[in-house]
Amino acid sequence: MYDMKALYEAESVADAIRLRLEHPEAQIIAGGSDVLVQMREGKRAGRELISIYGIDAMRGVSLDEEENLRIGSLTSFSHITRDPLIRRYCNVLGEAVDQVGSPQIRNIGTIGGNTCNGVTSADSASTLHAYEAIVELTGSRGVRRVPIHDFYIKAGVVDIRPDEIQTAILIPKASYENTFGHYIKYGMRNAMEIATLGCSVNVRLSADRQIIERCRIAYGVAGPVPMRCPGAEAAANGQRPTQELAERFARAIIDDINPRDSWRASKAFRQHIAVEMARRALTRAVELAGGELA
Ligand SMILES: Cc1cc2nc3c(=O)[nH]c(=O)nc-3n(C[C@H](O)[C@H](O)[C@H](O)COP(=O)(O)OP(=O)(O)OC[C@H]3O[C@@H](n4cnc5c(N)ncnc54)[C@H](O)[C@@H]3O)c2cc1C
Repeated sequence: MYDMKALYEAESVADAIRLRLEHPEAQIIAGGSDVLVQMREGKRAGRELISIYGIDAMRGVSLDEEENLRIGSLTSFSHITRDPLIRRYCNVLGEAVDQVGSPQIRNIGTIGGNTCNGVTSADSASTLHAYEAIVELTGSRGVRRVPIHDFYIKAGVVDIRPDEIQTAILIPKASYENTFGHYIKYGMRNAMEIATLGCSVNVRLSADRQIIERCRIAYGVAGPVPMRCPGAEAAANGQRPTQELAERFARAIIDDINPRDSWRASKAFRQHIAVEMARRALTRAVELAGGELA
């Protein structure tokens, strides 16, 4: 049994916003894989909940009129991994969320919940940062779109106003077009394990595949919130993909990241594996883009 005061079930986005305004203390629940675990642990006991899980309009992947990828916030991880549009345009996101917990968690957990919890280890977060995703929030005054970098305010805190819910995550066409990415999760074991570090790299190569036109890299657990590495990206942009470049790129991430000591791993260990993950993820991303490191 869960110790909750009341459960309100929203039937539409408008209904969810109305319930948010009527019950300002209530917490949103989507798949519940974070919320219900916390309730059972007593952390949110006795609270009111607003379930948005029945709002089917917030589920699924599509292309909008500008051909941006639109992922409804209630889309589950297993749906994302199997989705044909994700496979075609942003396969790395499907691979990243396929590394979440277990099949049961991937069936119930949503990408909205994975970002709205504000957790740095979220397996979707580094790839969404590396693709400069846009978060769509809907509230009583309409729709607001926030770059994912700005959506994360600090550990566990995201930019959602009291009358809003997150309705979708967009990956701009300019961001995924001709772009290939790779995600590496480092954990103590392969399943049911939160990342010790997550690293997502994507590249766009020139038509002759001799130049990295654009490279982006982002980490989870390299700081209190997921983060890009501007120094490393600058080191790779416009360069020939070579072993020497991969080495320089990987070393450059040390100045960009700020991991901490925790019971899972020391700061020094995280820094050590972060360099290796950057090198491997760049190498694989270049291969996926049809190039190779000279
Ligand atoms: C056993 C286990 C293993 C796990 N392993 C992993 C793992 O390997 N990697 C990983 O990244 N995560 C993991 N998780 C965490 C969890 O499954 C994910 O964070 C999941 O994405 C949460 O989604 P949900 O729909 O269940 O969110 P919920 O639990 O319903 O909600 C999570 C938070 O987001 C808010 N919220 C949810 N949706 C919205 C919305 N649309 N608008 C506004 N607020 C919203 C809720 O209020 C709550 O604060 C694991 C969890 C468990 C229990």
